Amino acid sequence: MGKPTGFIEYIRELPSEQPPRDRVRHWDEFHLPMPEENLRNQGARCMDCGTPFCHTGTVISGMASGCPINNLIPEWNDLVYRGLWREALDRLHKTNNFPEFTGRVCPAPCEGSCVLGINNPPVTIKNIEHAIVDKGWEEGWIVAEPPTQRTGKKVAVIGSGPAGLAAAAQLNKAGHGVTVYERADRPGGLLMYGIPNMKLDKEDAVLRRINLLKAEGITFVCNTEVGKDLPAENLLSDFDSVVLAIGATKPRDLPIEGRHLTGIHFAMDFLTANTQAVLNKSTNENFISAEGKDVVIIGGGDTGTDCVGTSMRHGCQSLVQLEILPKPPSERSLDNPWPEWPKVYRMDYGQEEAAATFGDDPRGYLTTATKFEGDEHGQVKAVHTVQVKWGKNDKGQFIPQQIPGTEQVLPAQLVLLAMGFLGPEQPLADALGLDRDPRSNIKAEHENYTTCIPGVFAAGDCRRGQSLVVWAINEGRGVARECDRYLMGSTHLP
Ligand code: FAD
Repeated sequence: MGKPTGFIEYIRELPSEQPPRDRVRHWDEFHLPMPEENLRNQGARCMDCGTPFCHTGTVISGMASGCPINNLIPEWNDLVYRGLWREALDRLHKTNNFPEFTGRVCPAPCEGSCVLGINNPPVTIKNIEHAIVDKGWEEGWIVAEPPTQRTGKKVAVIGSGPAGLAAAAQLNKAGHGVTVYERADRPGGLLMYGIPNMKLDKEDAVLRRINLLKAEGITFVCNTEVGKDLPAENLLSDFDSVVLAIGATKPRDLPIEGRHLTGIHFAMDFLTANTQAVLNKSTNENFISAEGKDVVIIGGGDTGTDCVGTSMRHGCQSLVQLEILPKPPSERSLDNPWPEWPKVYRMDYGQEEAAATFGDDPRGYLTTATKFEGDEHGQVKAVHTVQVKWGKNDKGQFIPQQIPGTEQVLPAQLVLLAMGFLGPEQPLADALGLDRDPRSNIKAEHENYTTCIPGVFAAGDCRRGQSLVVWAINEGRGVARECDRYLMGSTHLP
């Protein structure tokens, strides 16, 4: 710990951002660079605690907290404070294959367990991570490091999201020949076609890292849906082992009256076609425009927020985002000594943009849609809503109960369903004859990732259900370790 008084001297400071009304005019990232001296001061705020919960992880209010990949946070905070950026990058890469992804999109559970956060705002861990890795790329310190020896074993990784990429990177490091199959036209999974460009740049962050993985010897085969374009049996005969990292991409639907109307889409159809249009610089027949429309987004998570930010950039006429859950508390409860960062109520980037344009937070909490109303052409024109309160049913389960007299009708020519995901799509799992868990995810134990078929492993959202990029990286690294152990009898992978 270089500066014992850092946490007393410096206040928490994040980089400035382009104002919401300016940034909705483009698709680029909008954080402005922070001077190096300010970053170093932020590193100095780290107290190098005896038990760094940010790094080790802990359970706070019944929820796992701290960094899921055990980033060596106090070490690299201190190295940044001392201006030792290259050493900081090395420490960061020890536990995280892709800090440029987590440094941009992770909700930073590490900051929620920062000990400084007990009575001060926590250390800006996520932003320091982002700064370290961006400097690494700028300085040319991040270069391909192909393995010096090959084992002669071949592994197929199905799916190129963060779990598949992390698994591929680690297995390649161990010397195995890795082929990644991806059904989309570009690799990256939800890093490419879920999270929009303004949050995670596709060329400068996602593809730059994937190109490095290619240079290290990993083969990527896109436009290939395994189980359809490539028979699943071929995998088992052509490869020594198979890692499934196919994500949890089956969307939750809302089967209410009027669901068949045109103008009602799943969020991922909207977001995927939009990113394709941004990257291809032209729209295709799947493109869904929000321009000039009243937009209602149903669902309040990251996916919903990305629909808000995307609709704002299209130039929608109005926007409402419905959330069935209550508004989270703005302050931590009196009996909780831990910071609730980042769970405290905050506007994410999309809501900030909508509020700056339309004058108010677009979110309606404890509100659900009851019916879609259409016009004479079968096009949606309104969403009927009602407010709810949460009660319990006979089995003691929480259920939303409608409050009579709170009905509303919202104009809407575009409705986006962003209500989460129900596990992986099943054709490939069925073709391979894999067992599922009660939530319809592929059954494979955490820590060993083995499915019911020897040599076939599963990791990421398809195993744990919809989650976070950082958990996908955790699982990708873990599955690589277990796959390497299966292939070689022992493993040096962490
Ligand atoms: P995915 O990223 O879903 O990748 C799976 C890949 O497998 C896909 O590319 C799919 O095309 C491919 N595939 C599936 N079946 C086949 C097949 N048969 N053959 C070949 N390929 C196949 N998390 C965060 O931490 N921060 C965020 O800000 C955030 N924002 C999000 C925004 C949106 C819109 C969404 C939907 C999710 C967001 N998440 C966020 C969650 C995060 O993106 C996921 O948890 C993470 O990407 C899961 O990684 P994965 O590798 O398991 O699966």
